Amino acid sequence: MLKDVFMALSKNQLLTSAAKKYGLKLGAQTVVAGTNVEDTIKSIRELNAKGISATVDNLGEFVIERSEALKAKNSILEVIEAIHTNGVDAHISLKPTQIGLDIDYDFCYENLLEIVAAASKYDMHINIDMEDYGHLQPSFDLMDTLLKEYNNVGTVIQAYFDRAEDDIEKYKHLRLRIVKGAYKEPIEVAFQTKEEIDANFIKLIEYHLLNGKFTSIATHDHHIINHVKKFVAENEIPNDKFEFQMLYGFRKDMQIDLAKQGYNFCTYVPFGDDWYAYFMRRLAERPQNLNLVVKQVFNK
Ligand code: FAD
Repeated sequence: MLKDVFMALSKNQLLTSAAKKYGLKLGAQTVVAGTNVEDTIKSIRELNAKGISATVDNLGEFVIERSEALKAKNSILEVIEAIHTNGVDAHISLKPTQIGLDIDYDFCYENLLEIVAAASKYDMHINIDMEDYGHLQPSFDLMDTLLKEYNNVGTVIQAYFDRAEDDIEKYKHLRLRIVKGAYKEPIEVAFQTKEEIDANFIKLIEYHLLNGKFTSIATHDHHIINHVKKFVAENEIPNDKFEFQMLYGFRKDMQIDLAKQGYNFCTYVPFGDDWYAYFMRRLAERPQNLNLVVKQVFNK
């Protein structure tokens, strides 16, 4: 019930604009690294000092104005330069709808190409985040075209989709992030129960760990993490074949512990003024995250 409310709120255009105008509020500062590049680099340095790398997301999605998509592209190019100049251990995550997929496919491709080419100069990885089902195939198509020229690109496999097993087989030669899936999807295309999604998540992780290039296991679920730790030990999968990922601000102690145990760990670091939809999806996933909001409101 609460999940549906937060999901609906995440798509509210009016609230999205208001959030941009008034800055980080509602407790979002605990899960968003900052609104500018300077603060973000500072947050990355702090993570790097704890042995944690970062994947940086310039917040924004479902953009419908060309000017806004170009602004997002320029901002991502600025972050790529800043990561390189500051010598921090980080790469980029981006959403195709932020750089124009809902406006025009070719326009989006041109923007993505410019970003991938810029990152490639520094041997920096670009992860194409996966959004809702309607954008899934076009996002894979964008990646397929880029892969003809560049190899610093990877993407995300969402375990709740029926087709995820075929996708992971097709893209096993790539660095892949595997997640449960964050959007509300219909029964025609996606598993609906936690049991089914978790079972498919484990199946896909194990498959890519055994057959794939590099696996980013992105979850806050300690049951899954413990399962993976056991699986890699039993199958003698070396630590340089995989990493754990979590979102900035979540289970911070566990992030540090996993890094201390010698596992590669990468934190997803979102920044920017377009934080509203991202934040609402986190509340939808786990209404207990409301605790974070309450703490922020009262600990001024
Ligand atoms: P859940 O199923 O939310 O939680 C399982 C259990 O873990 C809970 O019952 C609880 O016991 C424990 N738990 C979870 N969170 C906490 C917490 N904060 N504190 C204490 N216990 C907790 N989705 C996409 O669709 N596309 C993407 O590109 C994408 N990229 C992502 C990148 C990263 C780095 C991460 C971490 C997630 C990403 N997601 C993405 C979101 C993902 O699909 C899930 O919606 C999200 O991670 C919630 O599922 P979960 O696996 O973390 O665990």
